[in-house]
Amino acid sequence: MSRTLEEAALEASTCVRCRLSQGRTQVVYGVGDPNADLMFIGEAPGYHEDKQGEPFVGAAGQLLDRMLAEVEIPRSAVYINNVVCCRPPGNRDPLPDEIEACKPWLDERIELIDPAVIVTLGNWATRYILGKQVSISRVRGQRFPWQGRTVIPTFHPAAILHGGGEASSQMTALRADFQEMKRALAERPAPAEEQLGLF
Ligand code: URA
Repeated sequence: MSRTLEEAALEASTCVRCRLSQGRTQVVYGVGDPNADLMFIGEAPGYHEDKQGEPFVGAAGQLLDRMLAEVEIPRSAVYINNVVCCRPPGNRDPLPDEIEACKPWLDERIELIDPAVIVTLGNWATRYILGKQVSISRVRGQRFPWQGRTVIPTFHPAAILHGGGEASSQMTALRADFQEMKRALAERPAPAEEQLGLF
């Protein structure tokens, strides 16, 4: 039997697999429904996430919350996490060896939560999942079959906040991608027990 998400999070809380452990306040493992059908993957904790121990609680998180509210999905019904669990100094990009060191934690979360739909926010999460050096503006909004799940890449909310803002084409794209995500969720296959219940 595999362990629970809580057990995994407890072990991760003392992780020293990479240098990011030296500068962090705490490990930001992930938050949300451990049985969520929908998972978001961002890049790395920022200042507020590092202080509060929860992903997407700063400005980018507020935009994520607003987008979720627009498609009428409660934040508590999804699972939110990042490619790396510890804040890179000065919010720099995570380095390849840091992503590699954190990989077993994210891979385990995906396996334990078993979401039907994964939305990757920005280049880092999208490249991590698709395993290719894709550009987010080329692949966003498309559905990619991945390990029996549907992956939909979209822009990182922080890129919109630092870029064009509310009136930008990225914001329009983000909205469209959230609608696509909602459709993918509605079309997901019923879990095995429900299918069995039909007979
Ligand atoms: N940006 C991310 O990628 N993740 C967070 O948790 C917060 C901001």
